[in-house]
Amino acid sequence: MTQLARFQAALAASEADGAILSSDLNRRYLSGFDYTDGYLLVTPTEALLLADFRYIEAARAQVTGFDVILPTATMTEEIKIQITNRRLRRLLIEEAELSYAEFGRLSAALSDVSLCAGASDLLNKQRMVKTPEELEKIAKAQVLTDAAFAHILPLLSPRMTEREVALELEFFMRRNGADGVAFDTIAVSGAASALPHGVPSDTPLRQGFLTMDFGAKLDGYCSDMTRTVVIGKADEEMKRVYNTVLAAQAAALDGLREGLGCREADALARRIIREAGFGACFGHSLGHGVGLYIHEAPNLSPRAAESAVLTKGNVVTVEPGIYLEGQYGCRIEDMVAIDYDGCLLNFTHSPKELMEI
Ligand code: ZN
Ligand code: ZN
Repeated sequence: MTQLARFQAALAASEADGAILSSDLNRRYLSGFDYTDGYLLVTPTEALLLADFRYIEAARAQVTGFDVILPTATMTEEIKIQITNRRLRRLLIEEAELSYAEFGRLSAALSDVSLCAGASDLLNKQRMVKTPEELEKIAKAQVLTDAAFAHILPLLSPRMTEREVALELEFFMRRNGADGVAFDTIAVSGAASALPHGVPSDTPLRQGFLTMDFGAKLDGYCSDMTRTVVIGKADEEMKRVYNTVLAAQAAALDGLREGLGCREADALARRIIREAGFGACFGHSLGHGVGLYIHEAPNLSPRAAESAVLTKGNVVTVEPGIYLEGQYGCRIEDMVAIDYDGCLLNFTHSPKELMEI
């Protein structure tokens, strides 16, 4: 079943006549076509892709399953014509993506249509369950990310700055085929490693922990990995912190399976960190979904809904961390899937025993 067919089945089961999709990533998800400034109009039985003259030739050549339409007037006027022709009355919009300005434009043009929230929610739920083809794309993005880590290790030295580490990782991934980076690369050392989302600076790598959180984007799909190494030597407390994070991650990886609650998944790791006395130093959730978006559902979090459980096709990160304010921090992150054979598939192959450089 194509992504479009899955979405059309969800629409057929809803109260709506169809959906207007405006975000680049959801349009790409359903059509397989990567472009900006357009709409998809999808009903349970029809699918239209509106693209302007910059994209129309490529769209006509590449897109299947959609009628590709070049607007004769503006994009908004064209979608109005298509909606009016079909007498569609109730349409879902992407409540999490559509800007207020664009919503205003659409509402003004479609005054006799009821535009309702709901498309984001339907697509968030659909994107959470990756197809085997999507799992393969994510695996390839992680292969590049692992290769970048292997590339950076022998280059690391106290003469290198955090920014140089980040750039080298990014350059390697781009040179080896990445579309780009999945998110802004993090490379933070010394006291800055205590900031889970610190920004790489121009200062040379400081002694102590160096946390690198990065990922390639390939064929639109993201990867996400964190490795923490030590510049210089680790003292006993640093070793204890690192090994606690490693044990917490191992406990979560051991326990993750189909049917496990997202809250329980988080608790598997959190318990180990709490029992080691660092409960207050793990301020973020254990992991998040990854796909076309770097952060998507499901979330492995103490605040996850009771009903949220892992299912086949979910891709999540497992990234416990301990952050000691003003001193240092450490995080280890792998990206895994609940595979279709029911087993846990770990995409991440980079080593994670404590490394002193
Ligand atoms: Zn990450
Ligand atoms: Zn992450």
